Amino acid sequence: AVAARSRTFDGEGRTKDGHRVQLLANIGDPSDAEPAARAGAEGVGLFRSEFCFLDREQPPTVDEQVIAYRRVFSAFAGRKVVIRTLDSGADKPLAFLTSDDEENPALGVRGLRTALRSPELLDQQLEAIARAAAAETAQVWVMAPMVSTVTETEQFVAACTAHGLDVPGVMIEVPSAALLAGPILARASFASIGTNDLTQYTMAADRLLGSLAELSDPWQPAVLQLVAATCAGGAQQGRPVGVCGEAASNPVLAVVLVGLGITSLSMTARAIPDVAAVLAEVTVEECRELALLATSAETAQDAKARVRSRLSVLD
Ligand code: PEP
Ligand code: MG
Repeated sequence: AVAARSRTFDGEGRTKDGHRVQLLANIGDPSDAEPAARAGAEGVGLFRSEFCFLDREQPPTVDEQVIAYRRVFSAFAGRKVVIRTLDSGADKPLAFLTSDDEENPALGVRGLRTALRSPELLDQQLEAIARAAAAETAQVWVMAPMVSTVTETEQFVAACTAHGLDVPGVMIEVPSAALLAGPILARASFASIGTNDLTQYTMAADRLLGSLAELSDPWQPAVLQLVAATCAGGAQQGRPVGVCGEAASNPVLAVVLVGLGITSLSMTARAIPDVAAVLAEVTVEECRELALLATSAETAQDAKARVRSRLSVLD
């Protein structure tokens, strides 16, 4: 334990010196929303919309989608909800979309690539999100998964704008997008780093393969440097950059992410109190020092050890 767990979360994430870091929930199914709101999440940083599309013979109708999305928006009335458009693809195939056989599904037509090849699917989803948002008071942000280029960003932003969705963002999950965060964030309103996929694609290590766990580690300095590059792009454009991968739920790593310039952390709701407690024990300047130590390490073990030894004063 790096901080007192008895501390209760007062509803707003902050460092010891008051620097704000939004602490948000990841939602995989609309039924997760109310428990997450009760657990104190400030909003939703990642609402995965796949639940609506997988294991179905036909795509959901717009009306069906509206009902599902409204359930989450209403649980977070007046608060921020970031909904991610469909992230399916070769490894999460959709019965109603024919897909080519792919030898490397993780590198295939997936995420936004699927949506851009099936514009009617994206169009219907954005229509459903816009209708659900209009019927509720949540501040609805929309983001695309697996964006790799500036052009894809432009296409997604244009599609959102056509539906009156005025806070379009992108997930940064591919190294190319992290390196181009400046021009991408000149077009998109925000970015959210998916550290699960960003780690997988940076390290060329399947995120589901336990035997590669040492490589599939967001503490890898190369991954942290790509997070830093994304934050630099966000700072250049004055755009917020969050993290919504598993890394956000690790309290020690969360401190490093804040030091790198991350403005919100989205995680499984039950992890929020521990992350809040550790953040409340450090100043933002300390976070920056720890981030520098981690990003300048040469190995993941070294990055972790450097930060842990400095944070042990909180034990
Ligand atoms: C990620 O890749 O970090 C992420 C949050 O998206 P998912 O886990 O749904 O791929
Ligand atoms: Mg992902």
